[in-house]
Amino acid sequence: MHEETRWIDSHAHLTMFEPEEVAEVLDRAAARSVVGVLVPATGPADLDRALGLSADHPDRLVAAVGVHPHEASSLDAGLKARIEGSLGRTGVVAVGEIGLDYHYLNSPREDQLCALAWQLDLACEAGLPVVLHNRESWTDLEAALASRQGRLRGVCHSFTEGAEEALRVLELGLLIGVSGMVTFKAAANIRAMAATLPPGRVLVETDSPYLAPAPHRGARNEPALVPLVGAKLADEWQLRTGEVAARSTAAFRELFAVRDGWAG
Ligand SMILES: [Zn+2]
Repeated sequence: MHEETRWIDSHAHLTMFEPEEVAEVLDRAAARSVVGVLVPATGPADLDRALGLSADHPDRLVAAVGVHPHEASSLDAGLKARIEGSLGRTGVVAVGEIGLDYHYLNSPREDQLCALAWQLDLACEAGLPVVLHNRESWTDLEAALASRQGRLRGVCHSFTEGAEEALRVLELGLLIGVSGMVTFKAAANIRAMAATLPPGRVLVETDSPYLAPAPHRGARNEPALVPLVGAKLADEWQLRTGEVAARSTAAFRELFAVRDGWAG
């Protein structure tokens, strides 16, 4: 029996692509067996766009709604109402992209922590998984997740901490997202982290338009390139790439509870 290889890109900012090119981007992805994509919103400016994309492409796209840590200071009562109001919409499968980023500090820490706490609690109440961003903020993120252990599901996307932290994420009941960084020559630390993880708890992603995998590094990334991430993981795990695709896709479907037939 030979199972057909099917990939899902668990994190692509298609809101940052020109509206008229999204259909072509999805066709190029499908030509490489990438059959589904999760599009996370990042803030007030692209929330409606993420919703619109998942409505326009209901068989191939799903959306996450939320405020990225860069935009945390924009989370006022009006935006909270917009996020809450979008949770029941068709194609909305998660709260995201949320988290902490102490590298850029585009929003002050205090605002980031408030926005994260509110959105984590919202996800718990709604019974939805979260899509998490973390940069130089692991200690505070870990504390926020640990205080909700057992009530929270989700994925730490493009995870760049070490193996110990990654295993802690799994212990807290969440998955690890691996991006094209795993293919970067200098990213031996990410390969070492990924190698320690059970394949069934890892989602592949592009983080398009960023982080294009080798040999496309520096170019604009798109979902069609996610099999290159999976192929590198297959090397690390010594599995067939089809096996990596099957496990990652199954983990995605379970976490985000996508309907039967979606990205079929
Ligand atoms: Zn992102």
